[in-house]
Amino acid sequence: MATSAKTESSYKIIDHTYDVVVVGAGGSGLRATMGSAEAGLKTACITKVFPTRSHTVAAQGGIAASLGNNTPDHWSWHMYDTVKGSDWLGDQDAIEYMVREAPQAVYELEHAGVPFSRNDDGTIYQRPFGGHMQNMGEGPPVQRTCAAADRTGHAMLHALYQQSLKYDADFFIEYFAIDLIMEDGKCRGVIAWCLDDGSIHRFRAHSVVLATGGYGRAYFTATSAHTCTGDGGGMVLRAGLAMQDMEFVQFHPTGIYGAGVLITEGARGEGGYLTNSEGERFMERYAPSAKDLASRDVVSRSMALEIREGRGVGPNKDHIYLHLDHIDPEVLADRLPGITESGKIFAGVDLTRQPLPVVPTVHYNMGGIPCNYHGEVINPTAEDPEHVVPGLFAVGEAACVSVHGANRLGSNSLIDLVVFGRATGHRLKELIKPGTAHDELPADSADLALSRLDHFRNANGSTSTAELRLEMQRTMSAHAAVFRTDELMVEGKEQLHATYEKMKDIKVSDRSMIWNSDLVETLELDNLMAQAQVTMHSAQNRKESRGAHAHEDFPDRNDAEWMKHTAVWFEGWGGKDGKVTIGYRPVHDYTLTDDAKYIEPKKRVY
Ligand SMILES: Cc1cc2nc3c(=O)[nH]c(=O)nc-3n(C[C@H](O)[C@H](O)[C@H](O)COP(=O)(O)OP(=O)(O)OC[C@H]3O[C@@H](n4cnc5c(N)ncnc54)[C@H](O)[C@@H]3O)c2cc1C
Repeated sequence: MATSAKTESSYKIIDHTYDVVVVGAGGSGLRATMGSAEAGLKTACITKVFPTRSHTVAAQGGIAASLGNNTPDHWSWHMYDTVKGSDWLGDQDAIEYMVREAPQAVYELEHAGVPFSRNDDGTIYQRPFGGHMQNMGEGPPVQRTCAAADRTGHAMLHALYQQSLKYDADFFIEYFAIDLIMEDGKCRGVIAWCLDDGSIHRFRAHSVVLATGGYGRAYFTATSAHTCTGDGGGMVLRAGLAMQDMEFVQFHPTGIYGAGVLITEGARGEGGYLTNSEGERFMERYAPSAKDLASRDVVSRSMALEIREGRGVGPNKDHIYLHLDHIDPEVLADRLPGITESGKIFAGVDLTRQPLPVVPTVHYNMGGIPCNYHGEVINPTAEDPEHVVPGLFAVGEAACVSVHGANRLGSNSLIDLVVFGRATGHRLKELIKPGTAHDELPADSADLALSRLDHFRNANGSTSTAELRLEMQRTMSAHAAVFRTDELMVEGKEQLHATYEKMKDIKVSDRSMIWNSDLVETLELDNLMAQAQVTMHSAQNRKESRGAHAHEDFPDRNDAEWMKHTAVWFEGWGGKDGKVTIGYRPVHDYTLTDDAKYIEPKKRVY
């Protein structure tokens, strides 16, 4: 959009210069901030919510690492499970890196002060989780998930925040990052809005790290926080860069019916099981070996099928029961205190005596900003599918490394956050010499951010942000859910485009710059809208079923044609009409070192 000195002069801009700016203070952002500051780089961390309110705080079940404390384990088993879980869409070099670094990363958290639950001999307690097995997938289930009761993310986030404060990083809390500053394909910094006093801040940096989390709120019901609006993805798309594998959206089997609040997979890890209206433990039919601990896509689809075939529970036969009532109440109080409380508050159920009503609920985005295992953002080109965008990094759920491929295993996200947050710190240290001089920023560095801000701030149409958001969320939930058909997704694309067009007629009522939540939500909606569209387009484009993408017209995985990452671009700002372009990137079918063996594709059964 054309802009102007006028826009810039009507907003007061405060300038900052850093070696590194991290956007986001969840587990991944804090770990990257720590690493960068520890390397002696002048580091800022910008976050729209107070660090310990980031969604990572809600993670319950735990963090995977092959410590072997409760059962035998080996990193190569963890690697096998992750590749299989990903339905062979994960990059095996990155997966090898993650699982081999995982034990060290967990010990680092332990030393940083995370109060892990303990075994009697003092070692870290580990619980079983879906899809994690012994003996290269053969079974029995492995106990690999380290936990601090059912408040693992809470413990992690507090420890990481405290550690970050020890290093000399500057925190900009309750600052909303609006857009990246790009120049000739290189990232030069970021523009942010201080929600508290309304000032605009221009951060010049040698590198920007996007750690902005997922975009679960594109859907009507999600376990993710209301702040999970994929702001980093929105910025990347507006910068003309790609996103990757956006069709893969994870539904967690056990969201509380009606509320969407999560009941951790740890509940099934501790012995919980699912039943249908006939009281049958139906997972025994779908996954004879792993049963209720099959991977999430498999359990969610089985539940959806039971409901579809009329065996759901409740008056509308539209959900499933999760039983924990057979477990010793003392074990529940010790290992799952948080969900015992959630059951009471959100379902009115005493889960020591009654089953919990649950339903598959949007939980995690496997797709995100493509990057390599150093955290460097990739914008694939025809000549170079690994083309690195200078000055830009992505970590955590915002990123797609890709270690989760088409389906993430439970407890593999928390480990992803710390392993790749740390790797990003290492890479920044290699690339940037502390105190290196900065070039001048281009004259139009604030134009994109300020013209968008100004546009929405003064938007005087007739449809509220909340109405448009609801319309988008309903379309996503109805047209890109657990089961998909071509017809549904074509309709979904049309409906989303229509909603997108209505953004031109959006109405924002509050014109102020101070704590203007109406405007914040509108900027967030703009980010969500772009990602909803690339998700629907990528899903409709992929003519196979793989991991979380279950296409009823193409029920089988098709490695010959589709073992490749989707790359997707969106033209959506500055008078462009929301055009979506799709390309591909090869899956890395090689390992990082010769210690690891490439895991050949097989049919995925649990
Ligand atoms: C209920 C729940 C339970 C889970 N349990 C587990 C589990 O047990 N094990 C596991 O492995 N995974 C679990 N997951 C997944 C995992 O917790 C998340 O994927 C992970 O925590 C995401 O971390 P993150 O650092 O990427 O981002 P988040 O923790 O989501 O943080 C995002 C950060 O970005 C900032 N931000 C975003 N946009 C902007 C902007 N425009 N300007 C400034 N700042 C911005 C926010 O302020 C925040 O600090 C769970 C997820 C949920 C929702």
